[in-house]
Amino acid sequence: MNCDYLMVHYGELSTKGNNRKEFISCLTGNVRHALKGLECKVEGKRDHIYVRLPNPTVEEEAIARLLSVSGIQRISPVYKCSRDEGELAACGASLIRDSMKSTFKVETKRSDKTYPLDSYAICRLIASAALKTDSRLSVDVHNPEVTLRCNLREDAAYLSLSSYPGLGGYPLGMNGKVTLLLSGGIDSPVAAYSLLRRGIKIEGLHFASPPYTSMAVIDKLKDILSVLNGFQSDIRLDVVPFTKIQEAIYEHVPEPYCITIMRRMMMRLAESWARKRKCLAIATGESIGQVASQTLESLQVINEVTNYPILRPLCVSDKVEVIETAKRIGTFDISIRPFEDCCTIFKPKKPKTHPNIEHVRRYESFFDFLPLLEEALSGINTIYMSDGEEVIPSK
Ligand code: ATP
Ligand code: MG
Repeated sequence: MNCDYLMVHYGELSTKGNNRKEFISCLTGNVRHALKGLECKVEGKRDHIYVRLPNPTVEEEAIARLLSVSGIQRISPVYKCSRDEGELAACGASLIRDSMKSTFKVETKRSDKTYPLDSYAICRLIASAALKTDSRLSVDVHNPEVTLRCNLREDAAYLSLSSYPGLGGYPLGMNGKVTLLLSGGIDSPVAAYSLLRRGIKIEGLHFASPPYTSMAVIDKLKDILSVLNGFQSDIRLDVVPFTKIQEAIYEHVPEPYCITIMRRMMMRLAESWARKRKCLAIATGESIGQVASQTLESLQVINEVTNYPILRPLCVSDKVEVIETAKRIGTFDISIRPFEDCCTIFKPKKPKTHPNIEHVRRYESFFDFLPLLEEALSGINTIYMSDGEEVIPSK
């Protein structure tokens, strides 16, 4: 039997109370967008989103696309069948038999309370028909190999056997947008993914130090963004010319403090840019203890330059976990391509893991960095990635 519908189960909707309407309408819009071109009919209802498939050939593709949409708990292929008792029993029985499992259970939700049979009677109706179709089948209500779910609605009965786990979280766009500091490494794309799952849109900000860093980094970032386009179809990346700032730091600041001060400069720039772009927070791929600039002491000194919220979704993740996620979402192979980052190129031999704030302030007074920050901000170049392709905006 071919399925007629996909039933989309909501993610963290139950915790959102008053925001239910916003959640459903935002997710319905995102589902419609994800299924563009497949001619599916998408309807957002109180309990689920129903996706009517134009024909069975699009089922696989539609499911694959919905697996990247945040805010979805599960996706169930659904068979629509008549409410007629005979037809319902026959349809349910053949689905159970075709599943090729030996133990099963039927669960019924009677959305239409006027239906003559109650939920228990509907379960019995379908189960006894299934037992008659195949003598090897038996019912196991505690640990069945397969569960047939029946939702009895006003227009028809909707039956489903299996479901695919979705991304969970919130619909994209519901929780605002952030400026994400995107390097060419493994961590920041995974941080992006964690934010996107949470319904937070991202705008990338990258600090480039040509000629010390090459254009290959930018190509790499475009590839990373095209993977992330699977979760957010349009992403911009703002590239900050960072060379002069970096050279000034290395000219004036004692080497062990260079990275700390460089990251403070990044944060100052990120805050100005986030405010300008109306992003509600700055996000990074930092993880506590990973490198010298990511000890709690360093983070405190780096944070001192801004009151802006800084999200660090990976702060307590293991590198192994981060790598697994990067592999699963498809950014790992891109991230491990050799590249030069401004952090690695100017890396001091002995970076400070416990920087002293008084020293940092004094070293920063050795040079006039504000005009350099202004200049960097005014030299930002923007790249737009949309559905895996770079878009050159028309003037
Ligand atoms: P890796 O996987 O090598 O750790 P990373 O991207 O985490 O890569 P780190 O040196 O650990 O690199 O930097 C920590 C965070 O700082 C990054 O996750 C990123 O958010 C930000 N960052 C570092 N370098 C840059 C850069 N050149 N442009 C923008 N953000 C950067
Ligand atoms: Mg890192």
